[in-house]
Amino acid sequence: MKYSQLFAKTLKTAPAAADTVNHKLLVQAGYVRQVMAGVYDYLPLGLRVLNNISKIVREEMNGIGGQEVLMPVLHPSAIWKQTGGWDKIDVLFKVKSRTGKDYALAQSNEETVTPLAKEWIHSAKDLPLAIYHVNWKFRDELRSKSGILRGREFLMKDLYSWHATQADFDAFYQTAKEAYKRVFSRLGLTAKVTEASGGAFTEKLSYEFEVLTDAGEARILYCESCDYCVNVDDIATYKEGDTCPRCKGDTLKPAKAAEVGNVFDLGTKYTKAFDVTIPGEKGEKVYPIMGCYGIGISRTMGVLVEHFHDEHGIVWPASVAPFTVQLVSLNTNDTETMKRADEVYEQLTKAGIEVLYDDRTDVGAGQKLADADLIGNPVRLVVSAKTLRQAQGKTGDKVEMKLRSEKESAMVTLDEAMEKIQTLL
Ligand code: ATP
Ligand code: MG
Repeated sequence: MKYSQLFAKTLKTAPAAADTVNHKLLVQAGYVRQVMAGVYDYLPLGLRVLNNISKIVREEMNGIGGQEVLMPVLHPSAIWKQTGGWDKIDVLFKVKSRTGKDYALAQSNEETVTPLAKEWIHSAKDLPLAIYHVNWKFRDELRSKSGILRGREFLMKDLYSWHATQADFDAFYQTAKEAYKRVFSRLGLTAKVTEASGGAFTEKLSYEFEVLTDAGEARILYCESCDYCVNVDDIATYKEGDTCPRCKGDTLKPAKAAEVGNVFDLGTKYTKAFDVTIPGEKGEKVYPIMGCYGIGISRTMGVLVEHFHDEHGIVWPASVAPFTVQLVSLNTNDTETMKRADEVYEQLTKAGIEVLYDDRTDVGAGQKLADADLIGNPVRLVVSAKTLRQAQGKTGDKVEMKLRSEKESAMVTLDEAMEKIQTLL
């Protein structure tokens, strides 16, 4: 894509009211716009990142047998009354129609997915079943701050599974946890599997996937010697300095973190509420065990920015960057340089490499390079009078290549650059 054509360009400064790095950088670099507290427009660059994260999440959910659907955001109130959520869930947005009917906006989708799955669950042979979707959620959060980390409207992947036996559920629960670890490692994040209470859903323990960041709202205790981690917001069992209950060889340290995902054992709460049953061995009614598994896609995008940035801007991991390459043409008043930059753009694009080509002729070199740093695509390629002179020398065709995560640039041939780029993909 040519940057000259992109309507949503960078700003000179970050919004003054922004209190977190992700809010500042995502607005300044042209990824998002705040419509109101907790509600954002995702601009072309921002949408590409959301889609890249979703793609990885979808691949891993499909990999464990999840089948993707798309369920609604607007729900009849009846299903929420049936589970008790209508009165119990304080973040549930309620909407009245002009004819006086009550509706709820999806804060999660147990209430739609369970009656949906019921149609196909008749016996143990129909199980296990795992259904997911990626869709917007609405929550009446009291404090929507921290940029896109806490939205009133946010993108979530939610998977739901049903099992004939506790053992089958336990095995899938483990499989889902492993898939979650793969998701976050593909995103370049270390997510700590954290013990927490089941919240509004269940009395049982749940597991949160927490990424250490000061911008996060979760408070955790973790062990540096093993992978033990516990959320202290719900669980009063442990305090700072306590011996790690897992390895017993270290003490628990406090940290702030952002919850990027979680997995819950829902037991039979929802299968009972919607009377989903299968016949047991003696023909008795058995309620399947249900699990739910969420990943905050938009929050994860914010966490990535909190984690991957420097004083100049965002430093996206290649797996989620809006483009792999930021191609920058300098000396744009020189037709030969412009022609060469156009050719490089075409060749990269033909090779299937995603390129954001800063072809602007009305801004100087300094701003183009600063914008490339701010936007944060992993590879910067510069075509300039200097690289052309190199091209006319003995060493042949050159571009100046720099990785966003590194300080030094190098003069390389386009072939060499393309080879290096392929290794990043
Ligand atoms: P939190 O404790 O942060 O409020 P939660 O326990 O309410 O999260 P879930 O209801 O399990 O979260 O939602 C699944 C995932 O959706 C969370 O792990 C998180 O990544 C994301 N999420 C939850 N609430 C928000 C929000 N207000 N804005 C953005 N993402 C959210
Ligand atoms: Mg919440």
